[in-house]
Amino acid sequence: MSRYLAERYQGVSPYVPGEQPGPGFVKLNANETTMPPSPRVREALSDALVESLGLYADPHARPLKAAVARALGVDEESVFVGNGSDEVLGFLFLTTLEEGDALGFPDISYGFYRDYAATFGLAGMPVPLRDDFTLDVEGFRQFKGAVVFANPNAPTGLAVSPDDVRRIAEADPDRLVVVDEAYIDYGAETCVPLVRECPNVVVVQTFSKSRNLAGAHIGFAIGAPELVSNMEDIRFSFNPFSVSALTQAVGAAAVEDKDYLQQCVAQVTRERARLADALAQRGFQVLPSQTNFLFASHPAFPGGELCDQLRRRAVLIRHFDQPRIRDWNRITVGTAQENDALLAALDDALGEAIGVH
Ligand SMILES: *Cc1c(COP(=O)(O)O)cnc(C)c1O
Repeated sequence: MSRYLAERYQGVSPYVPGEQPGPGFVKLNANETTMPPSPRVREALSDALVESLGLYADPHARPLKAAVARALGVDEESVFVGNGSDEVLGFLFLTTLEEGDALGFPDISYGFYRDYAATFGLAGMPVPLRDDFTLDVEGFRQFKGAVVFANPNAPTGLAVSPDDVRRIAEADPDRLVVVDEAYIDYGAETCVPLVRECPNVVVVQTFSKSRNLAGAHIGFAIGAPELVSNMEDIRFSFNPFSVSALTQAVGAAAVEDKDYLQQCVAQVTRERARLADALAQRGFQVLPSQTNFLFASHPAFPGGELCDQLRRRAVLIRHFDQPRIRDWNRITVGTAQENDALLAALDDALGEAIGVH
């Protein structure tokens, strides 16, 4: 450890993203997709754009904001864009919370929430999911302090209704309720309309999943205009050019192509049903997913071992070595071909396991 590391960061343990191993693996471990982005993205990367790269981008990212606003049916003043929803969440916490403030999140959820709390000196506090892995709405209502949760949640794939989110928001209008909708396009109901009703609700979404653009890294928040304006002030006090000209052009093109989004989502939901059936046939318990991944456990295979066995067969899935979910794995729904490769590797591993026992 460098002796120059600031004392406030000495407890920070950085987020561990899904492994990026290079070619040769079927990658079902990070909820990304090998489907290409909208064809409009390629058109957006024009010669004119390349020639203009000597100039700084619009720091307000106005065309991208306008495109997001149109696509979601909200006012432009309600839209904040950033370099991935990770950065958007970061600016949100930086803008609204003081050091030592409480931040509540599900005990089983996106690992980054705990890491933000450490980075920003917040008191991160898990609000345990219920035994069936659903969100404890009453627990969140009673929590004293800002809360953040993914809806649908990861890695469980389960969602709560906007009515439940409203109940959490109305329990204490003084605290922020952040709804991370990274997977919302895959079937759950969005809380965007709730933002107008409840000024303490902020919805965060990303281009990294359903829009097939994790490599471009674009995220946005929909919140009350005053809050968005405050977030912009903080962004301009830190890195006004966090969304590059390339990213802005790519994002605007992608978000305008609603037909393509629907096509991709339809393919994923079709494959999700097929994969869930195939896993159930092989003895897995599979939670009903509203996302582009499945959360599954097998009685004959401890979660970590299954993950290792598949890895040996060049298929990556995600195991979290964490209480309550050690027996489970999170499996991204891939293309038909990728899912077939997963099932073949699985049959091989299961056959071997049965042969050994
Ligand atoms: C993937 C994911 C994100 C990260 O999105 P980026 O826009 O790529 O930063 C945020 N929240 C959840 C729950 C995710 O699964």
